[in-house]
Amino acid sequence: MAQPTIQNEENPYEAMLYRFDVAAEKLGLDPGVYKILKIPDREITVSVPVQMDDGSLQVFRGFRVQHSIVRGPGKGGVRFAPNVNLDEVRALAAWMTWKCAAVNVPFGGAKGGVICNPKELSRGELERLTRRYMAMIMDIIGPDRDVPAPDMNTDPQIMAWMMDTYAMHQRHAEYGIVTGKPLELGGSHGRVRATGYGVGLMTREALIRQGMDPKSCTGVIQGAGNVGGVSADALYNMGIKILAISDVDQTIYNDKGIDMMALKAHLREHRGSLEGFKGGERLDPQAVLTLDADILVPAATENVITSKNAADIKAKIIVEGANGPTTPNADKILEDKGVFVVPDILGNAGGVTVSYFEWVQNRLGYYWDERDVNDRLEKIMVTAFQEVCGMADREGTSARIGAYMLSVERVAAVHKLRGIYA
Ligand code: GLU
Repeated sequence: MAQPTIQNEENPYEAMLYRFDVAAEKLGLDPGVYKILKIPDREITVSVPVQMDDGSLQVFRGFRVQHSIVRGPGKGGVRFAPNVNLDEVRALAAWMTWKCAAVNVPFGGAKGGVICNPKELSRGELERLTRRYMAMIMDIIGPDRDVPAPDMNTDPQIMAWMMDTYAMHQRHAEYGIVTGKPLELGGSHGRVRATGYGVGLMTREALIRQGMDPKSCTGVIQGAGNVGGVSADALYNMGIKILAISDVDQTIYNDKGIDMMALKAHLREHRGSLEGFKGGERLDPQAVLTLDADILVPAATENVITSKNAADIKAKIIVEGANGPTTPNADKILEDKGVFVVPDILGNAGGVTVSYFEWVQNRLGYYWDERDVNDRLEKIMVTAFQEVCGMADREGTSARIGAYMLSVERVAAVHKLRGIYA
């Protein structure tokens, strides 16, 4: 097996492979299984023509990548963003494989994306784009094959359009085709808050492990969307003083602590934007990462903690709400500084865990209340945290490598049992 090297720390697929290589090496992974898991099972690129409101036609590019479906149907969100690319979607698909294995839900890993700027699309254009994308990937998805969900810039309404498009082709309602749907349409209680709620649970467990009292801790959150906003609330509810929160345009900093009621009301009204929020001093958007606080939750996007700024991070605990926020080169710097990092494939796994609950409820036709969902989520995530830390402690690695080792081992075990169909 080649010694892991990373040429470009900001290429998410290389960043994913680097950690996979380290885990594979430490596990003594079977070379055949290594070769299988290194490359996605299937990737498709689709062309998505959309009739625009002004009568013109625009053609968008979309992707769906299934990294592994050996443990169950592919699972993973669809993101709409101007800078989505195949390597990013590949990495995100693989991260879903490891994430589902880390929390031990019976799914593989997949991801989708469409290159577009949703801010520039009208509601009608967004709906037509969503429906045509769904129609284009329909051959490879299905409740038992691959189940999409929300991700960056996609939400329950978009899931409803996806479900409807699929259902129209099937000639019957098929709720289990996507998760993250509105409640009225077979969505699950607790799904919208699940990722941030899970970040809260993982913060609590990390604090216990590090022997820190939440009531004397401060926290900062990068990202004010669904994950960032709910994470801020979850940490606040544990007694952590939230000093700052950021979005793409600004950081809002308040050394007395952000007024959570006012923040929540603002984010509800302004759909995840901090523009005009008066609850503190306005700093530049990147400032949030290096503020003096005990806990940092990067809950925005990839590659925000890199070799360039890792040395300036003051936090003692980082809980990754985003996928891929830390590069492998930054991992080393943080490890040397003794920062405890709850890796993305565990830190943000609350979302896919409740997606799993949604899919189960759809198949049962029997729905649970929010308390039931949250209790089950807590049980799964706390168990995963302990298993990840157990692996890391036994192997003398970071929690990230511990999480990869646990996940790769679980996926490899299924490959071994199933064998190769030849
Ligand atoms: N997009 C979320 C993630 O990255 C959720 C995926 C899902 O629920 O399938 O984990």
